[in-house]
Amino acid sequence: MKLEDWHTHNDLCRHAIGKCEDYITKAIELSLTTIGLSDHFPYGYLSPVLPSINEIPYQEYSMNIEEIQLYLDNLENLKEKYHSKIDVKIAFEIDFFKDHEQTLNGHLNPFKKRLDYILGSVHMLFGTGGIFAFDDRRFLDKYNNYNSIDEIYILYYNTVQEMIKTKHFEKDIISHFDLPKKFNKRPIDKENIMNKVTETLELIKKSGLTVEINTSGLRRDVGEQYPSLEIIKLMYELDIPILLGSDAHHPDEIAHDFLHIIDILRKTGYSQLAHYEKRKRYWIEI
Ligand SMILES: [Zn+2]
Ligand SMILES: [Zn+2]
Repeated sequence: MKLEDWHTHNDLCRHAIGKCEDYITKAIELSLTTIGLSDHFPYGYLSPVLPSINEIPYQEYSMNIEEIQLYLDNLENLKEKYHSKIDVKIAFEIDFFKDHEQTLNGHLNPFKKRLDYILGSVHMLFGTGGIFAFDDRRFLDKYNNYNSIDEIYILYYNTVQEMIKTKHFEKDIISHFDLPKKFNKRPIDKENIMNKVTETLELIKKSGLTVEINTSGLRRDVGEQYPSLEIIKLMYELDIPILLGSDAHHPDEIAHDFLHIIDILRKTGYSQLAHYEKRKRYWIEI
């Protein structure tokens, strides 16, 4: 069986340990057939157009704009160096910021042809009390600006829906779909939130996107993958393509718990996972 990890970071983003090459050699050691390097796209382009970004320590979240070139050159060399041992895929995880797609694309377009796929993510919310990095533990007190956790879930899924609908925001895969559960803050009116989840999944299906099964939640307070088994079952019913990502911020986290997750996916009914090359989707059997 082929094992592929589509979501990894490295020390360029300032909050992960290990060089790109360390992730590749570790993936070879683990007998993976594909390793996707998908570091955070720079936030720096937002500083002139979205001053509130300065309320967030975005320099600790990603590489600088000037490092994009270095990152891609390095990955292309490594892809060549290890091509007989593993298939290295070149990617970015890009955060969605409403109304700033044009500025983003100005920085992304020169490099777009070099990418195998793009992970589309929502880590920042704009609501009561301004910009909010809701998955950063340092901002936990900001949760108090909201009447209930459900408000955050709704705001999050509305933002994900906008990301999906915004044609000029390029993405192939939706990352960590139910991320607001990260600190184990669960919805109060579960039915209401699940309706929002279903609405979002239907939009994903219509848009032809893939959803990542992200195992990093198993290493966090929440103790389960993103998304939950309940949502995975819904995705199977809707025939939504999936693939696996560890969200590794250390080489030891590569393909974390993948065999356990593949077992769950098979029981759900999934027999194929998506695979990307140059922004085109292929399939592998599980
Ligand atoms: Zn990260
Ligand atoms: Zn992420």
